[in-house]
Amino acid sequence: MRRVRVRFAPSPTGPLHIGGVRTALYNFLFARKNNGDMLLRIEDTDSSRFVPGAEDYIVESLKWLGITIDEGIGAEKEGAFGPYRQSERKHIYRKYVDQLLNDGKAYIAFDSPIELESKRAEIPNFQYDAQTRLSMNNSLTLPEEEVRKRLENDEQYVVRIKIEPGEDIVVNDLIRGEVSINSSVIDDKVIFKSVDELPTYHLANVVDDYLMQITHVIRGEEWLPSSPLHVLLYRYLGWENEMPQFAHLPLLLKPDGKGKLSKRDGDRLGFPVFPLNWKDPRTGEIYNGFREAGYFPEAVVNFLALLGWNPGTDQEIFSMDELIEQFSLERVSKSGAKFDYEKAKWFNHKYLQMKPDEEVADIFQRILIEKGFIEDTDKVIKIISLIKDRADFITDLWEQSHYFFEAPEHYDAKAVQKRWKPEIPEQLEELGKMLLSLEAASADEMEKSIKEWISGKNYHLGNLMNALRLALVGELKGPSIFEIVEVLGKEEAARRIKKAIEVLSGES
Ligand code: GLU
Repeated sequence: MRRVRVRFAPSPTGPLHIGGVRTALYNFLFARKNNGDMLLRIEDTDSSRFVPGAEDYIVESLKWLGITIDEGIGAEKEGAFGPYRQSERKHIYRKYVDQLLNDGKAYIAFDSPIELESKRAEIPNFQYDAQTRLSMNNSLTLPEEEVRKRLENDEQYVVRIKIEPGEDIVVNDLIRGEVSINSSVIDDKVIFKSVDELPTYHLANVVDDYLMQITHVIRGEEWLPSSPLHVLLYRYLGWENEMPQFAHLPLLLKPDGKGKLSKRDGDRLGFPVFPLNWKDPRTGEIYNGFREAGYFPEAVVNFLALLGWNPGTDQEIFSMDELIEQFSLERVSKSGAKFDYEKAKWFNHKYLQMKPDEEVADIFQRILIEKGFIEDTDKVIKIISLIKDRADFITDLWEQSHYFFEAPEHYDAKAVQKRWKPEIPEQLEELGKMLLSLEAASADEMEKSIKEWISGKNYHLGNLMNALRLALVGELKGPSIFEIVEVLGKEEAARRIKKAIEVLSGES
């Protein structure tokens, strides 16, 4: 058995879309599961679409997510099959172009863009293929001498693959099963351009997969229509026995399932569809990333793993190791996966809850310092333990906990209207005094004493506790009120009670 070798082969044409990240992830999981190699190859033969910075963005995104590369761009050691950037492999491809030409599997075409344009205008649904190639300007129609002369004169040309019509080409897809397509519908694709001496995607992709000994091509569904052509290229090059197996992953769909997920869906619905923030160097356009939106990489990995793959059980939370252990292409679905952003948040929430309070507190301390609060670590850990379950993101923590650090400046008007009853100021004032005289300091002990005191006084427990919450928090939210008193300390609680009475009852 050949050693499993897979590759992620993005083109550096902009920020890596989240669908591309999922492709990288599935390749990685498959490689690890099968003790194989994960390669990163940059497919940059189309210089017109090259965007500076895009390659670094790809490498950084994968690194952030823990998708490690064994070989190629971004790997610790590049590996023995390099270079891994196609633009640096120019010298390699020519040989295979010549082989195809010599074997009559490809031909040289001189048709200019204008000539092609006029053919398209003349013949509806024009396709450069067996039916039309003999009416075109190419080495099949021009005398040999003429072709030679044109080449000597450095006339620009392309090389086209010569597809034999009328043949059923079968692609054995590991996800979709047998996909059969008749060669008559495939056009004579350009595989090489003299203008930059570079192959096009199709040839470079096949040559590199072969030379890099790739065993499985796992990529997005949008490449399925190209795969019969790739099968033919393997055949024409005499490599059919070494041809990798194909697996085409289902599309990522818009949240409503209607069409492919796009950047615009993210902008429109307010969620990221890219791993990291990116500013387009040409247009200045901003692309929002999961990292900057506050996501943990583990949550993004978990979320993406389940967009198109299922474990066959109810398990939803997976560490990377568990994913590696359970992943299989057989459980990747054929149909598109809806991008459910609420689910992404849910995962982040879960991962936040799973993180130890100490770790979350450590990150939160940095936010506190930025806001000008220097706080005791134990106190912050305690606060985190009280409010963590109300947060989806680290950035929600401040919103959920600010009243622990600063006394309320305002009181929620609706709550005041509903809860600040005429008897409250007097009862609260008494409660404040009583608090100061309490021996108890822990939430549990205080709860017991306060409740006993309230019932002894015959006060309304709910009303008084709501008013106390308003005084301490400024609104009716937060964890157990006794926990809040414990963290604030009795003195601070009493101060806040006094202030609330002054502000809300106009006493000073
Ligand atoms: N360069 C192609 C892309 O950008 C790779 C397709 C493939 O994996 O074969 O997606």
